[in-house]
Amino acid sequence: MTSLYVTTAIPYVNAPPHLGHALELVQADVLARHARLRGRPARFLTGTDDNALKNVTAARAAGVPVAEFVDRNAARFRDLRGPLSLSFDDFIRTSADERHRSGVTALWRACAARGDFYLREYRGLYCGGCEQFWAAAELVDGRCPEHGVAPAPVTERNWFFRLSRYQEQILALLESGALSVEPAARREEVLAFVRAGLADLSVSRPASRAGGWGIPVPDDPGQIIYVWWDALANYLTALEGADYDRWWAAGSVERTHVIGKGITRFHAVYWPALLLSAGRPRPDRILVHDYLTVDGAKLSKSAGHAVDPVDLAARYGPDALRWWLLSEVAPLGDTDFTESRLIRRADQDLANGLGNLVNRTLTLAHRHRQGLLPGTPEALSPDLPATIDRAVAAFDLRAATGAIREAVTTANRYLDYRRPWELPPSFDTTLATVVATCRRIATELTPFLPDAATRLKSQLGSGPQVGTPTPAFRRLS
Ligand SMILES: [Zn+2]
Repeated sequence: MTSLYVTTAIPYVNAPPHLGHALELVQADVLARHARLRGRPARFLTGTDDNALKNVTAARAAGVPVAEFVDRNAARFRDLRGPLSLSFDDFIRTSADERHRSGVTALWRACAARGDFYLREYRGLYCGGCEQFWAAAELVDGRCPEHGVAPAPVTERNWFFRLSRYQEQILALLESGALSVEPAARREEVLAFVRAGLADLSVSRPASRAGGWGIPVPDDPGQIIYVWWDALANYLTALEGADYDRWWAAGSVERTHVIGKGITRFHAVYWPALLLSAGRPRPDRILVHDYLTVDGAKLSKSAGHAVDPVDLAARYGPDALRWWLLSEVAPLGDTDFTESRLIRRADQDLANGLGNLVNRTLTLAHRHRQGLLPGTPEALSPDLPATIDRAVAAFDLRAATGAIREAVTTANRYLDYRRPWELPPSFDTTLATVVATCRRIATELTPFLPDAATRLKSQLGSGPQVGTPTPAFRRLS
């Protein structure tokens, strides 16, 4: 059985976390928890990209020293753990963690020893929001396709990485599926980008432009390492000593990155090329989510508490927030968030659906059998675990949660059809069947709603005696 190493992208800390960060963290959390539920060892890493120039810009605008500004915002990302019920095993910070700094330096030296760097005068169009140069042909009406602003012309002397050397190897990895990119539409986009030809990549910046913030180029302290080169390395620098062997170098690990669609080429092209150059193993899977909008507007542009995941979790609870992110967000295409959609989905599926099913079942058990079940019949929906496994493997978490909703509907229909409250001769079998089904659903719910699953499992018990019914979900509307 392969083990799973799963990561999120590390966000810039120029602003507090928003709902889009919550989406990615919850998705990666589900993958880690699902693996653990199936008995696969899993390690889940997240963290923050402290070294981006835009953090420096934001700190200056706020009139706060960069290190202090970055510490404060990084803590807000780390503190999402409680409100979102996350199970990450490690949290890396690219400015504060010495393991990162020394790891990046070692990777740089490995690529340098390979002869993959050279110095060159460079003129290009730079988007500070993306922290990348754009080719004129890639702009939309002269503007960055991600940020809608015109990139600034920049001329500087930088270190370049011989990305062009790795064109054929990267193409082969993507075409063969040895490096898989899901969904398929994202794979096609990145294939088209590689087939159009890979140009060498600028991988350093003058230290003066960054006010000295960042990781210096080894043996060239006038330059700092390009923030993307630095940031991508976190997946590896987080793993030291035996952890590196166990979670990255071993043949039995599935190395998985969960990312947003705007940074696919960094993960599916630049990162594997860097690793090929450094002689390290490459990732196996890149799982790409689309974006959330809020009331139709791009998240980064929306302000206020409507997109603050901590505030949403405080008002509606982690279960309702996670359930919306997992059951309504489309695998492909942007999804619009509104609070009314979150409330409707939670009330329909959780309070009225699953909560009601468990409640009516346990009420019957206590009213007529003092909570004691006869026998152990088969649960309904025997295919539920396999259906969830397939959906999770395809990174279609909407389909995975849909399978749970389907199983709840099946059990509720079964109760309506068998009418155990009329005390027919089939009462005991019906009751025991539905209790077994609820237990199966509660177990399968664990990766998606760990808190709710714990509450339900404690009510349902595991032996012949079931607990007393208490509403597992409050109605939000
Ligand atoms: Zn941009």
